[in-house]
Amino acid sequence: MQAAFDALNALLGDRFTTGASDRALYGQSESHFADMPPDGVAYPETTADVAGIVAICAEHRMPVIGWGAGTSLEGHALAPRGGITVDFSRMNRVLHICADDMLAVVQPGVTREQLNEDLRATGLFFPVDPGANASIGGMASTRASGTTAVRYGTMRDNVLALEAVLADGRTLRTGTRAPKSSTGYDLTGLFVGAEGTLGLITELTLRLRGQPDAISAAVCAFDDMESATQTVILTIQSGIPMARIEFIDATFVRLFNAQNGTDMPQKPHLMVEFHGSSQSTREQAESFGEIVADMGGSAFQWADRPEDRNRLWKMRHNAYYTARAAWPNACAITTDVCVPISKLAQAVRETADDIANSGLPGPILGHVGDGNFHALLLPDRDDPAQIAKAHALAHAMAERALRLGGTVSGEHGIGMGKLKYMDAEHGAGWDVMASVKAALDPQGIMNPGKLLRQT
Ligand SMILES: Cc1cc2nc3c(=O)[nH]c(=O)nc-3n(C[C@H](O)[C@H](O)[C@H](O)COP(=O)(O)OP(=O)(O)OC[C@H]3O[C@@H](n4cnc5c(N)ncnc54)[C@H](O)[C@@H]3O)c2cc1C
Repeated sequence: MQAAFDALNALLGDRFTTGASDRALYGQSESHFADMPPDGVAYPETTADVAGIVAICAEHRMPVIGWGAGTSLEGHALAPRGGITVDFSRMNRVLHICADDMLAVVQPGVTREQLNEDLRATGLFFPVDPGANASIGGMASTRASGTTAVRYGTMRDNVLALEAVLADGRTLRTGTRAPKSSTGYDLTGLFVGAEGTLGLITELTLRLRGQPDAISAAVCAFDDMESATQTVILTIQSGIPMARIEFIDATFVRLFNAQNGTDMPQKPHLMVEFHGSSQSTREQAESFGEIVADMGGSAFQWADRPEDRNRLWKMRHNAYYTARAAWPNACAITTDVCVPISKLAQAVRETADDIANSGLPGPILGHVGDGNFHALLLPDRDDPAQIAKAHALAHAMAERALRLGGTVSGEHGIGMGKLKYMDAEHGAGWDVMASVKAALDPQGIMNPGKLLRQT
């Protein structure tokens, strides 16, 4: 190992460290996983640096783990087998914005908030919004989505091209700046969602969208979950082009009120946003309002001014931390199932019943327009029986999602936490993933312990 460290020191100087505090920092995650620190941390500034790091790790058979903002929730960026964590925070330049083609070329360490700040004056924006201020490289690697995917799609739909350093040292370019292509295997798509197991992404070309002329946001309350989720199903089936349609249960409403001084009735809510011209947003709101009224929902509470909208979505984005603060001695077991829209009400209802029967705190929220929702399970971290119960609840959710024709992860990805479901969800497809992995990374150095069958 010392020979690898010497080579990395020679390549990067003080941009490589084996210091205990750095290693400890990169051995932690946002979620319930035990700490798993790497042996060293590298801070590349260029693609050539990344290629050099990977070449040294390949020569010494050391794991290489990409690190964007470290916000992933399934232990993706931990180092269960040690190795070198590659922190992309110094590769954080927006390289090119082409307003005419509505695209941006960025380095992987650019965060989504930074990119949208840079785009502010252009009339364009990058729509994928996972709430956390994640890096674009990390978002691509987990195939992230979030509140706006119902309208603008996930990272799968918004990465046009990329550059990646492969385990054998090659630097690969996939895709073009054209909006579509019909030239062979979709290698861009292969890297989007690969969780750093096939290579390290060093540049991305992103699709941008025009900032809408009019944006309006609102919340409305329902007497029960069923009415709220049925409203979502009917809204999506009617083709109303919602920009956001988020569900929060009564527990989250109580927490939001306590933390933010809001006075929403303590009932399940939908938080929605409409994008378009002033006329089209009005029409969308009217059509949606009719469905809400039919389902017994309350009148809208509007948040039209930008500052009110920002407050609303900030509150939603902070939901995870709000709940964690309310149960400070809990460990957080996040869940992330996604079902066909027609099965949404059933999946949410059965999940809520299971949680109520368990007696554990487990507030529910989700990007329900995509059929995607999360229960945040909060067992006492010192109570093994509660932790086991929470894992059993998460397991029941995953099995239910599969039974209903859905997936065990709508957006967070597999990392280490969801490995146990890959066989059930993909069958032979998981073996095909292993064949792709073996072809591109025969030594198995790229983010080992994640996504693929463990040997
Ligand atoms: C409060 C909160 C809310 C969240 N809400 C959402 C949500 O709504 N939707 C959603 O999709 N996710 C959500 N997440 C999860 C998380 O934000 C996403 O998974 C995000 O995409 C991770 O990005 P990151 O930059 O933090 O990546 P990291 O956690 O640093 O890394 C994620 C994975 O990508 C790999 N990686 C990172 N950079 C590269 C690179 N350049 N090349 C190759 N591999 C790389 C890492 O090795 C790791 O496997 C949330 C997380 C939190 C804490």
